[in-house]
Amino acid sequence: MMTSKIIPVDPFDLVIFGITGDLARRKLIPVLYYRFIDGQIPKSSRIIGLARSAFSTQQFRNQAREALKQAVSEKHFDPALAKRFVSCLHYIKNDVNSDEDWGELQKMLKDSDNKVLAFYLSVAPVLFSPIVKQLGRLNLAKNSRLVVEKPFGHDLASARKLKSQIGAVYNEHAIYRIDHYLGKETVQNLMALRFANKLFEPLWNTNHVDHIQITAAETLGVEGRGEYYDNIGAMRDMVQNHLLQLLCLTAMEPPYKFDADAMRDEKLKVLRALQPLTGEEALRKTVRGQYLAAPGAPGYLEESHNKDSQTETFVALKAQINSWRWAGTPFYLRTGKRLRSQVAEIVITFRSTPHSIFGEIDTPIRPNALVIRLQPDEGLNLFIMTKDPGPGGFRLRETPLDMTFAGNSGDDWRPPDAYERLIMDIIRGNQTLFMRDDEVEAAWEWIDPIMMAWKNSGVPPESYDSYSSGPAGAVELIVRDNRRWRDIVA
Ligand code: NAP
Repeated sequence: MMTSKIIPVDPFDLVIFGITGDLARRKLIPVLYYRFIDGQIPKSSRIIGLARSAFSTQQFRNQAREALKQAVSEKHFDPALAKRFVSCLHYIKNDVNSDEDWGELQKMLKDSDNKVLAFYLSVAPVLFSPIVKQLGRLNLAKNSRLVVEKPFGHDLASARKLKSQIGAVYNEHAIYRIDHYLGKETVQNLMALRFANKLFEPLWNTNHVDHIQITAAETLGVEGRGEYYDNIGAMRDMVQNHLLQLLCLTAMEPPYKFDADAMRDEKLKVLRALQPLTGEEALRKTVRGQYLAAPGAPGYLEESHNKDSQTETFVALKAQINSWRWAGTPFYLRTGKRLRSQVAEIVITFRSTPHSIFGEIDTPIRPNALVIRLQPDEGLNLFIMTKDPGPGGFRLRETPLDMTFAGNSGDDWRPPDAYERLIMDIIRGNQTLFMRDDEVEAAWEWIDPIMMAWKNSGVPPESYDSYSSGPAGAVELIVRDNRRWRDIVA
């Protein structure tokens, strides 16, 4: 069995605004519990939750224990450990818009000997700026770290505004902008695969790679959050951050070291090298869709409460990176809700062999493909052509070299949640897996003209069947280049 070494962190105070919300309940509290049972939360550390609801700390601890029972696997839920864990939790009733509610937090932090202080903004984005202002006003921001959830703005202008409001109180080196895709095990492994092996680097360019597909497909729809989602859409929710970050990590040059700014400098170069998509070209190279109803599942227009909504629940696009390494290798990005399966993966399809010596054999030689799977079953698969075993004749078949992490890591292995790594990195002060402000802006600079082209065209999103692979236009987008999407299968 493989054992992972736990690197200790300094005792900390982690203050979570929005502790009663969905993200805190479903993710943040459970991942902190996992770090606790792995022995990584130092004794005196405190998790201080804030929200407007009126609870005592004891009531909140009871609720947290219930939330853990729901979110943590049965195998890992230990009532005695859960009891010890929730004793690290504290609750303060606080309306961040009021100047009065901050005394208790000030008092708790004033008396603290813990070395690290981090404020986690797990609240609606409209509250980011008021909270940061209060932290500045009360002198709590000093020597602390600020954790900001996505979205970082709605477009370039709002992202710049948010940057200047937060920047009035925090320096860039203290800001941790979360894109949880960067904390996923497979994404880390993409770095290991590319930069700890000699094998792939000579092939990792347009001479050998035909095209790259990046897919993030969900089976769920907006699930009652239609009103909230209607102001966002798939482009802002998924492409601007998660998909572009995956594209950057796939396409970037090797950084000179595995360090926050070296990595982020290289990712920024990729974003800046993206061929702009504007006007007619944007319409030709992008497809947006909206899901229809299925038996027992409402269509997007019924869920959004806006019968005329043009918000996209699906996007497919063809991107080109203007660089020596990638000119001539398109990147096809695709994301959507209510699709056939829950899948997130990067597929590198290599160019075909220049000539087949197996002319007589009817099995076609398929180009090699490297599939980097983020979910489900995180792992890597390298598809190669091999001979069908046996004496019955010479036939070829496509065989995956399977590196599924769960299968290779022992029975006790639990795939760590991306947030576990990210929260511990915040405590360690390691910004490598967090987006820098110039990356966020460069991503919006590329996205904004596409969204503008959609708006100006007046063309509504294309409808697609729930639990399908998306709209027909997405298929056409790639088929006209004589390529095809990899099936969306879990
Ligand atoms: P949510 O369920 O709506 O929770 C919002 C939290 O903010 C609640 O705890 C609420 O508690 C608190 N709150 C609201 N107004 C407040 C005020 N004036 N003062 C103090 N607290 C206030 O939101 P969420 O889904 O957890 O999302 C939180 C953030 O994470 C958002 O920025 C979201 O975009 C981001 N995010 C969420 C997810 C997810 O899976 N949920 C994923 C990625 C990113 P009270 O009502 O008790 O005050």
